[in-house]
Amino acid sequence: MDDRHTPEDAQASLQTLREQLGDRLLTDARDISAYAHDSSRDEPRGAALAVVEARDTADVSAALAWANERGVRVSVRGAGTGLAGGANAYDGGLILSLARMNRIIDINADDRLAVVQPGVITAELDAEARLQGLFYPPDPASARSCTIGGNIATNAGGLRCVAHGVTRDAVAALEVVLADGRVMRTGSRTRKDVVGYDLTSLIVGSEGTLGVVTEATLRLKPVPEGTACSFRASFDDLESAGRAVTAIVGGLHSPEILELMDAASVEIIEAYRPSGITVPKGAILVGQTVGPAAAAEAAAIAEVCTAHGATETELSDSDALIEARRLSNPALTARGLKISCDVGVPVARLAEIFHGITEISRRHDRLVSTVAHAGDGNLHCTVDCADDDEIAADALLDDVTKLALSLGGTITGEHGIGSVKRHELSWQLDEVARATQVAIKLALDPRGTLTPGRAI
Ligand SMILES: Cc1cc2nc3c(=O)[nH]c(=O)nc-3n(C[C@H](O)[C@H](O)[C@H](O)COP(=O)(O)OP(=O)(O)OC[C@H]3O[C@@H](n4cnc5c(N)ncnc54)[C@H](O)[C@@H]3O)c2cc1C
Repeated sequence: MDDRHTPEDAQASLQTLREQLGDRLLTDARDISAYAHDSSRDEPRGAALAVVEARDTADVSAALAWANERGVRVSVRGAGTGLAGGANAYDGGLILSLARMNRIIDINADDRLAVVQPGVITAELDAEARLQGLFYPPDPASARSCTIGGNIATNAGGLRCVAHGVTRDAVAALEVVLADGRVMRTGSRTRKDVVGYDLTSLIVGSEGTLGVVTEATLRLKPVPEGTACSFRASFDDLESAGRAVTAIVGGLHSPEILELMDAASVEIIEAYRPSGITVPKGAILVGQTVGPAAAAEAAAIAEVCTAHGATETELSDSDALIEARRLSNPALTARGLKISCDVGVPVARLAEIFHGITEISRRHDRLVSTVAHAGDGNLHCTVDCADDDEIAADALLDDVTKLALSLGGTITGEHGIGSVKRHELSWQLDEVARATQVAIKLALDPRGTLTPGRAI
């Protein structure tokens, strides 16, 4: 922007912000570096000016008003577990951290609603709700480290989404600070509310580009009765596992979790933290059923798997199988595998994309390991590649992404666009849709203060 201040001007005027924020403004290089990255492979360029460790909405408002007035770019950060580069710092920018706004303000069992600050860790809200016989349905594999604000900004998915929907389905109302520091409330505590445009849904998934979430009212559900039952089914090939998932999701059974790990992933996860799972020839499905009929339902799902070619099935009342799936990301990272995608396809096309991935892997002569929120048709393929070979790995994943689109799918199911997938936007969105997104951004953040150049 032409009227942006130079970095030197902004540095000098940090004193104004310090007078408002005191020790919530960090300028030490080590502090700045600790907040500069998310968990993607995108590296921030240059160095940010400072970090604001916000403690309340007024801090967020003051920081944004200061930055907006001076043309300083702001990156917004929860826990930094994002995989799209969305929270990475800008050179000469301000990092706005919501991690210290981590209070669960209220859990109301009658309304089945929780009111929380954005820095609350997702699993901690779930655990607190369970003390009142309720639970928070969205369950990203990173639930023990990511924040509710980050989940809302990315519309996070997770393991239980096949039964309960994604984060958007759990958000009733928000408090949001806009780029110029003004505070807006969206939604309400009611079950039904059709007043005006649905601004709550607009903010969910906006990846820190339209506003900063400073409070969220979230929908909880009652904990199902009975003991949960886990199941596992092994397949000699990925396509059969895909057909089994299509049959389960399209059938009468409602698993709460339905995940897939291919042979390469199981081998990597078992090497990282052994749990006794036998490495299959093709893939395993793992999942969980809940409610009074959980065991019978899991047995019926195992039968569907057998009918679709499972060579072995197992039922269990322990969480070990699900835990293994939760470890996939750290296990892949520990193995040095960092280049992955997050495509989605309609569940009925799973066998086709698995067939295509096997072909693509053969054509590029590279090992691809795939884990999937299979019941949602959401796949994470990771490519084995040396550091100097990322272009070739990216080319392989581009082929997977284009295949997903050709099957009626999406370029990202849950991680978001951030900075790492922006080049893929035009593969999915038409020009009119892209122009509409830009118009919304300009209406809410005309000076390009909040997370500019990302997500849209
Ligand atoms: C091991 C591992 C497993 C994962 N599993 C899953 C999974 O199963 N499902 C899934 O969806 N994702 C998963 N992820 C990705 C990541 O955990 C999610 O995207 C999560 O929602 C990010 O939350 P965060 O608090 O870390 O946000 P950050 O990484 O800090 O930020 C993510 C985005 O949200 C924005 N943001 C953060 N807080 C706010 C706020 N208060 N207001 C406005 N914008 C904000 C940031 O600017 C950025 O664009 C996984 C990541 C890892 C490392």
